[in-house]
Amino acid sequence: MNRCSLPYANWKWPEFKAALGAFATGRVGVGPDIDELENQIGQLLGEPNIFAVNSGRTALRIGLEGLAKLRPERREVIIPAYICPAVVNTIKSAGLCPVPSEVGPDLNLHPESAHRLIHKDTLAILVAHMYGCPADIVAIEGLAKKNGIYLIDDAAQVVGESINGRQLGTFGDFGLISFAQSKCLIAGESGAGGILICQNPELTPIAHTHVESLGPARSRGRAFLTFVWSYLLSGYTNKVTYYWRRVVPSSPKGISPARIANLDARIALCQLKSLARRRLERISVLDKYVQQLSTLGLRLPQYTSGKYLARAMTLLPAGSNVESCREQLRSHAIETRRGYPVFLTDDHSSPYAREMTDRLIELPLAPGMSDTNVKRICEHLGETLKKQEHCPSNQSIT
Ligand SMILES: *Cc1c(COP(=O)(O)O)cnc(C)c1O
Repeated sequence: MNRCSLPYANWKWPEFKAALGAFATGRVGVGPDIDELENQIGQLLGEPNIFAVNSGRTALRIGLEGLAKLRPERREVIIPAYICPAVVNTIKSAGLCPVPSEVGPDLNLHPESAHRLIHKDTLAILVAHMYGCPADIVAIEGLAKKNGIYLIDDAAQVVGESINGRQLGTFGDFGLISFAQSKCLIAGESGAGGILICQNPELTPIAHTHVESLGPARSRGRAFLTFVWSYLLSGYTNKVTYYWRRVVPSSPKGISPARIANLDARIALCQLKSLARRRLERISVLDKYVQQLSTLGLRLPQYTSGKYLARAMTLLPAGSNVESCREQLRSHAIETRRGYPVFLTDDHSSPYAREMTDRLIELPLAPGMSDTNVKRICEHLGETLKKQEHCPSNQSIT
């Protein structure tokens, strides 16, 4: 059976060659590729103050701690209610309080909802461009300026897209990028790298001192091998990994802040080279999906013709049993994933974000995926949904 996996990383020979080079020359932890990566990302974004660290979380933490130093009397950070849990946890671990705001149909922060949450304790608004879809950050930038609060441009999921000629990640007081699995530039599993982009001239020296104090990344050679084994070869290694984990459970250690490893910087540089090609290939697969899905009456709520998206997040009909649908697709060797859990303080604050979480599934979207595969996935999805229609006892109660 033709397996359709979710795209964890689109590595080709250059990435493996770069890694072998790092191993052969003993430049795994430190080396010259870190400066080179900072230079190239700086050029792409048109920004001088670029710091390469070991994760998006590290970048976010350093930025947040800097802002909190500048305005210690303020503790709240407004975030979209639909967001990766890493963001929520990082804000909390910086001693700050995340405040969820409703999102719009693009799954991004809704400017008016955010506006209503601003008050005297608000330190910053964090805007993320969910699955590569640009948020209305221009409107939110205006909002932040008018109210005298900081703006964070979380471009963890997107690199190289712009609004009005300004690159995402470069709005606001600071921005960030991540090199973790399923992002835009992938150097490995979470902990493989991230970028802090500083705009605020008061923040830059604080961030600079903080980054200088970080130690080099450790055990990255081993992390590389684990990533190749459990993500890139998962089709072959799943079973072995399963039994291995039963014998040797993985330690649930968090990522401690560090500089980026030279090995990961080298791989990120290769990914940067192929970014433009992979972007166009993804757009073409998205177009195929939208065509096929429309025949089923389904859509990708974030899609605009010709625009990039990192993932094919598909909205299932209201009342669908999402888990049974995923199970059916899995039986045809089609891997799927659900959306993020919604971060809410009470049940009624973000009904739209909650509904999206209940009804979204991610379909495989690899650059260069064939028409046949897209068609096959959509056909199986259609069959599954039809079965549910005819068997209402199967449906979840929402
Ligand atoms: C993944 C992600 C992060 C964190 O990046 P890591 O490199 O995994 O720490 C932050 N923000 C968003 C929106 C993300 O998707």
